[in-house]
Amino acid sequence: MFATTETSAAWGVKRKIEPLQATIRPNLAPTRNASALAAAPRHATVSCMSPGLPWGRRYLMCPPTHFEVSYAINPWMDLSIPVDRERAQCQWDALVATLREAGAEIELLAPLPALPDLVFTANLGLVDGATFIPARMRHPERRPEPAHAEGWFRTHGFEIRRLGEDVVQEGAGDALPFGTTLVAGYRTRSSASAYVELARLVEGRILPVELLDERFYHVDIVFCPLDERTALVAPGALDADGARLLTALVPDPIMLTDDEAGAFCANSVVVGRTVVMPACSPRLRRELRARGLEPVVVDVSEFLKAGGGPRCLTLALDTRLGHEDAAAVAERHTAHNYHPLPVTITHAEGVWVHDDRGRRYLDALSAYSALNFGHRHPRLVAAARAQLDRVTLTSRAFSNDQLGPFARDLAALCGKDRVLPMNTGAEAVETAIKAARKWGYDVKGVRPDRATILVCENNFHGRTTTIVSFSDDPLARAGFGPFTPGFASVPFGDAEALAAALGEEEVVGLLVEPVQGEAGVVVPPDGYLREARRLCSEHGVLLIADEIQSGLGRTGRTFACDHEGVVPDLYVLGKALGGGIVALSAVAGDDDVLGVFGPGSHGSTFGGNPLACAVGRAVLELLATGEPQANAARLGARLGAALDAAAPVALGEIRSRGLWFGLDLHPRARRDARAVCEELLAAGVLAKDAHERTIRLAPPLTLTTDEADWLLERLLAVLAAPERLRLAAPPRRPASFAA
Ligand code: PLP
Repeated sequence: MFATTETSAAWGVKRKIEPLQATIRPNLAPTRNASALAAAPRHATVSCMSPGLPWGRRYLMCPPTHFEVSYAINPWMDLSIPVDRERAQCQWDALVATLREAGAEIELLAPLPALPDLVFTANLGLVDGATFIPARMRHPERRPEPAHAEGWFRTHGFEIRRLGEDVVQEGAGDALPFGTTLVAGYRTRSSASAYVELARLVEGRILPVELLDERFYHVDIVFCPLDERTALVAPGALDADGARLLTALVPDPIMLTDDEAGAFCANSVVVGRTVVMPACSPRLRRELRARGLEPVVVDVSEFLKAGGGPRCLTLALDTRLGHEDAAAVAERHTAHNYHPLPVTITHAEGVWVHDDRGRRYLDALSAYSALNFGHRHPRLVAAARAQLDRVTLTSRAFSNDQLGPFARDLAALCGKDRVLPMNTGAEAVETAIKAARKWGYDVKGVRPDRATILVCENNFHGRTTTIVSFSDDPLARAGFGPFTPGFASVPFGDAEALAAALGEEEVVGLLVEPVQGEAGVVVPPDGYLREARRLCSEHGVLLIADEIQSGLGRTGRTFACDHEGVVPDLYVLGKALGGGIVALSAVAGDDDVLGVFGPGSHGSTFGGNPLACAVGRAVLELLATGEPQANAARLGARLGAALDAAAPVALGEIRSRGLWFGLDLHPRARRDARAVCEELLAAGVLAKDAHERTIRLAPPLTLTTDEADWLLERLLAVLAAPERLRLAAPPRRPASFAA
């Protein structure tokens, strides 16, 4: 389980923007001028704000406990100017606080005596996803530093890859990703040959830029990526070639004057749209703001004495070299049948997921309840691993040793004779439809091709052609006809309407979600399911409960039907049955119904495969403890009571069953549910809108009390703000009164 650390994406504090001042002067006279400035292209206003840098949300920093200037390896270091270490510590603390406030997570590297420059973590190496490439320092004084960093990366699960011993390369200080290109500085500190080697270790293009001015000894003093289109570039510190290469690479560069470059303006840290800078001129501030970026100036004057600014003090841990933003690739290469929230998940554990920008979120959706046991539950992962080493797929042409025990245990859980395993939920629903029809013809004696299945208004049972045939969601149906006949719709939760519809002759089944999930967690009136059971039995009609989303603990009981003591004729199960690892669904029923299938009448290549069945067995073991169900009931009640008590002004109706919530926005709430979910995302919570006005919550049933409270706190912060209600429109004055 990951430790809980709090981050805030909101930037509410007003800060004084300090005037530009180069607080120290280097020992070397400037050797270059800003001749390339004249060629700088003019900035064109960007009308559509880009989402910011795809990296820069997680940093490694080292406290300045042993920071001092005890040797001079760049022209800014002057042994006659002492460092005020207490002041350095205050400045470093303020930088950490500023970065956290901007939404960054900060990891700490232990300081070491005799390594005063360890504080400049940017130089320790390069991070490429889960790989760390330790630096090769030019100066002997700094050579022990990367080895120390290596220990940290090892214990944090990074793979270590190395550059050869005959090259020098000073880490991220000399190599910054811009899109899929790595902008790499050489000559002053890193050697050009290092990049020939690096090209073998990382993907993407490396753009070597020659650094000629000893004052600007690292590329992070002359170049600062700001977002996907924009970067700060100090052309005066580069030769004409370098300036040309960078301005050709960056669509919308902001060129720094010599004064701005000399004040280390390019040595800034970018977190989302916040630019944490050592100094900022009024002109530069205007340029940044015009691009939707907010400069925040921090005092790092003690560190400038060693030639280092905010960027030097931070090593980004979320860089992926040569990789395009994964969401953009997905957008380009997948059909647009989803509109995902802007987050790209890279890893997860328990209730927590991490994105490709190093941010952490509480997953309050759980893949629509497919992750009832959280991400990568150790017992489920162990079952999958063990099975991966044995056999994964046999097809049903043969038997396998996992299918039988899985089917036996699932049938026992459902109190049924047998099960029919499939893969996705929609396939299980299709299976139940086929079972009911065949039962209707073979057992009930319905005339051929006349069987009718009753479904409920606002249902959601999946996306196949037959299933959307009985959906009443226009978006799900439009353009997909002709539709499958044989379905009739009744209002959900209306026992009287159901009784009337059951009076028709050739009805074979009622397909119902005990709680309608996609409709917005709609719970039927008390007694409805019981009455439906009674009516179905009375009319000789199968009660088919689609518990794909509501079942397996979500509502605080094993099945949502349990709340009314109802046992359907067929259970339709999916999602959580596969433990969030595999697609596994099933229909469970007695012999008199599932017995209608014979060889060749139905099947699936993957249905009942040993890998899925092994995971399914482990899922059933977890459910057999009763703990997920009990936890859902307990924490559902806790969250529900807290939400009721807080009565957030932005909310109207609150519906819930167990750890499953449908929060309707107040009719006068300004934001729609999507916008609220985007705010929740920024606050570290993954939730999903249902239609325009409902927010769905379904956190893993493994949620702890502390995590529930963490979730509640963020929910209330997003939902409670009074300004989110539209004021009632004032009554209109008749036209004749108008002034
Ligand atoms: N039935 C219900 C109640 C569902 O909620 C869903 C999916 O959300 C399905 C069926 C379809 O499941 P799948 O997406 O696995 O096909």
